[in-house]
Amino acid sequence: MMMKKSNVMDEKELRAKHRGEAWRENLRKAVPVKERVARERVKMPELDPKYRVGCNDEVNQGLTVEMAMAEAARCLDCPDPQCITGCPVGIEIPTFIKNIERGDFHAAALAIKRTSALPAVCGRVCPQEKQCESRCLHHKMNREPVAIGYLERFVADYEREHGCASTPEIAEKNGIKVAVVGSGPAGLAFAGDMAKMGFDVTVFEALHEIGGVLKYGIPEFRLPNKIVDVEIDGLRNLGVIFEENCIIGKTLSYDDLHEMGFKGIFVASGAGLPRFMNIPGENLIGVMSSNEYLTRVNLMEAAKAESDTPVLHGKNVAVIGGGNTAMDSVRTARRNGAENVMLVYRRSEEEMPARREEIKHAKEEGIHFMTLSNPVEYLGNEKGHVTTMRVQRMELGEPGPDGRRSPIAIEGAIDDIPVDLVIVSVGVSPNPLIPNAIPDLDVSKRGTIVVDEESMRSSLGDIYAGGDIVRGGATVILAMGDGRRAAANMAEALLAK
Ligand SMILES: Cc1cc2nc3c(=O)[nH]c(=O)nc-3n(C[C@H](O)[C@H](O)[C@H](O)COP(=O)(O)OP(=O)(O)OC[C@H]3O[C@@H](n4cnc5c(N)ncnc54)[C@H](O)[C@@H]3O)c2cc1C
Ligand code: SF4
Repeated sequence: MMMKKSNVMDEKELRAKHRGEAWRENLRKAVPVKERVARERVKMPELDPKYRVGCNDEVNQGLTVEMAMAEAARCLDCPDPQCITGCPVGIEIPTFIKNIERGDFHAAALAIKRTSALPAVCGRVCPQEKQCESRCLHHKMNREPVAIGYLERFVADYEREHGCASTPEIAEKNGIKVAVVGSGPAGLAFAGDMAKMGFDVTVFEALHEIGGVLKYGIPEFRLPNKIVDVEIDGLRNLGVIFEENCIIGKTLSYDDLHEMGFKGIFVASGAGLPRFMNIPGENLIGVMSSNEYLTRVNLMEAAKAESDTPVLHGKNVAVIGGGNTAMDSVRTARRNGAENVMLVYRRSEEEMPARREEIKHAKEEGIHFMTLSNPVEYLGNEKGHVTTMRVQRMELGEPGPDGRRSPIAIEGAIDDIPVDLVIVSVGVSPNPLIPNAIPDLDVSKRGTIVVDEESMRSSLGDIYAGGDIVRGGATVILAMGDGRRAAANMAEALLAK
C-alpha cells in the first residue's frame, strides 16, 4: 500500500516548512537536547486493578494538561523524524507534539486530523509500541520513546471535552449517491471523507449498532462507546445516513443498490468470521468464539442476569489465543465475575501478538497466563456441558520464516484442567457474505476481496473495498487509512464521469 511518489515529496516539503517556522525553532532552542532526553517518560494514570475488575470504567484515565506538555517537551523535533515512517497513515507527529509543547492544542488536533480520521480511537487502541514509538530516536539513546499514543489521545480528548472541535469544510452537494457496506473504522473514515466532498452517503450496517469492532469487539474499559458515538454523531451532522439492521447481500442485493441510484459502493464488511481449532469437543455447551462472547456482552448486555439471552459466566474460564481479542476476552470474563481466568497460548509470552499494555493490564487483573500450552480436546458431562480442557504442553523450536519460534509438543506432557467456559480466540476470517453475494467479484484464496493497492478499486468498477475484508484481521488505523484512500480515488473517478 505505497503512497504515490509525488505525494511523498509534497509531504516532506510540507513537513520541512512546518519545522522551519520561527515558533518551532525557538521552541527547539528553549530546552537543550540533553535535558529533553534526560526526562522520564510520562506514566499513564490508570484505575486501580482491584477497583476496575468490578466495573467497566476505562482503565487508562488520560494525561493532564501539565503531563502532556511535559511529555511533549521530551520530543527532539528531529529533522528526519523516523516516528512518521512507523505510522501507517504518516501522521505529522513532531508537528502535533510541538504544538502541544507550546500549548496550542487546537493546532495539534488539526495536524493529526490532516491524516487521521479517528484520533480519539487510534490514540487509545493503536499498537504504537510496534509502529511510531518503535522508531523514536530516544531508543538509540537507550531511553523510553516519546509517548506518542498518549499525546494523540490527549489532543483528541481535549478538543472534545472543551467543545473546541473544528467544523470541517463541506463541499457543495454534487447529487451523487454512494453506499458503504459496514460501519467499522474503514466505513466511517470513508463516509466522512465522501460527505465532506459533497457526496450523499448511506452506510448500511448488518447489526443494530454502528461502529463495527469499535463497538461490538473492543470493550468499554478500553474504548468507551461515548468516544465512538462522538465520531458517529459528527458524521450524522455531515449528512451521512446510517441504516442499521440491513445486510447487504441478504436484505438488499448489489442490484438493489444500483436501482436505488448508488453510483459507487465501498465494501468495509470486516473479518468477523471466527475461526476454531477443529479439535474434539468444540461443539460442547460452554465453548464459544470470542466474537460471540464479546458481541453478546458488548452489544446485547448479555452479562446482566436480567438479559433475555444471558451469556454463561463460568467460574473457571479458559480463553485460547494470545492476541488483542483474547486479551479483551479474559479481561471481560474477569469483570463478569469468573474466579479463575486462564489465558491459554501455545507459544511464550514474548511471541504474543497482543499489545504490551494489554498483557500488563491483564496480569494486574489477576489473569493466569498459561503459555506454551495448546488445547487438544474438550470433555463434557452427560448434559453436554464442557467440564475439562485437555492441554498439550509445548516447547519452542527454531524460528520459522516469519522469525517467530514455532511451538513443538512435548511428548506425553498432557494435563486435564477443569473449565466451565472456553472462549476460542485463535483468529478471524473475512466475512464471506459480500463475496458470496456478488459472484463476479475477484476474491483471494483467503476470502479477502482483491483490490488495486493504490486505488482500493475491486475487479468490479463501481465497488471499492478496504479494511479487514481486504487485509484479513488487521488494525483500526490501517482500516481507516484504506477508507480514506478509497474515498479519494472513488471521488476522483465519479467526478470525472
Ligand atoms: C476484540 C478485538 C479487539 C481488537 N483490538 C484492536 C486494537 O487494540 N487495536 C487495533 O488497531 N485493532 C484492534 N482490533 C482489530 C480492528 O478492530 C479491526 O482491524 C478493524 O475494526 C477493522 O475495521 P473494518 O472497518 O474493516 O471492519 P469492522 O470493524 O469489522 O466492521 C465491519 C462491519 O461491517 C458489518 N458488515 C459485515 N457484513 C455486512 C453486510 N453484508 N452488510 C452490512 N454490514 C455488514 C459488520 O457487522 C461490522 O459492523 C481488534 C479486533 C477485535 C475483534
Ligand atoms: S522520533 Fe521521537 S524524538 Fe524524533 S520527532 Fe519523532 S517522537 Fe520526536
